[in-house]
Amino acid sequence: MEHIPIILDGKKAQAHYAEMLRTRIQKLTQKPKLVIFFIGNDERSRVYIERKKAFGESVGVSVEIVEFSSDVSQDEVLLSIQNCNERNDVSGIIIQLPLPAQLNEKILTAAVLPEKDVDGLHPYNLGKLAKGELDGLIPATAQGILLLLSFFEISVSGKNIAVIGRSILVGRPVSLLLLAHNATVTMAHSKTKNLSEITLNADIIISAAGVPNLIRGNMIKQGAIVVDVGTTAVKMGDELKLSGDALFDEVSKKASAITPVPGGVGPMTVYSLFDNVIRAAEKQL
Ligand code: NAD
Repeated sequence: MEHIPIILDGKKAQAHYAEMLRTRIQKLTQKPKLVIFFIGNDERSRVYIERKKAFGESVGVSVEIVEFSSDVSQDEVLLSIQNCNERNDVSGIIIQLPLPAQLNEKILTAAVLPEKDVDGLHPYNLGKLAKGELDGLIPATAQGILLLLSFFEISVSGKNIAVIGRSILVGRPVSLLLLAHNATVTMAHSKTKNLSEITLNADIIISAAGVPNLIRGNMIKQGAIVVDVGTTAVKMGDELKLSGDALFDEVSKKASAITPVPGGVGPMTVYSLFDNVIRAAEKQL
């Protein structure tokens, strides 16, 4: 009999959770607002920003986009962040990455007030997460992955979980969040030797390397759960298509559940960003 894995459909989970955001917004005395700093003209960033704006507005958050040209100075951006920190109508601020080379990502992300840091990238919020305190603002992709698993009733407690990637945006925060939820986490990265040894031992694999076809069928155990965070634009004929890290056709023959790319982790990242915006607004009001 053909093996059919559960598809961890992020759009379905997003639609379910979005209803809760609408209910929470109705209880607020002021409409929450997210400000997105869009610096330069990266086309993929533009698509992501439009997606965030569409979802935010669909649940009742207003989304303001502050655009700067790619040659803007660090001081000018800092001044604008400062201004948003002080504005009472702004609940949350994000700086869309990547940034042009002359701008310092560390300085700019640390300039956002921790209470408005809805990307969870300020050292204060990351520090809380490192301590296992989950009442700060948690990076959206990490939170989104946990919620997606929970929507499909997959518990992480006590599971062996391999996280591939150690970036501050995905790999590190998701590992810390999983630890806080009692998973046994093994982290792998570009210098890891013999990745298969780690993935073959994992009940759940979370891959955020951005390397298409990194995870092959012979690298996972029968019945493993695969969360593919990777979204790499690859050329197929004349078109650009998004590719995950897992070779879907091979991996899905052994996995008990797997995320599609696109439509898996991405929608839950967007959801979790607005969950953070509303959490920030609830605390501020
Ligand atoms: P990054 O480039 O900052 O980090 C990639 C990580 O993968 C690094 O820590 C690196 O050590 C590791 N890595 C690279 N090659 C490897 C290999 N061969 N074996 C093991 N580890 C390897 O990227 P990022 O910002 O963390 O994003 C990772 C991927 O996730 C990208 O494709 C990105 O587009 C995607 N992403 C998706 C979402 C979403 O919501 N779906 C959100 C954020 C990022």
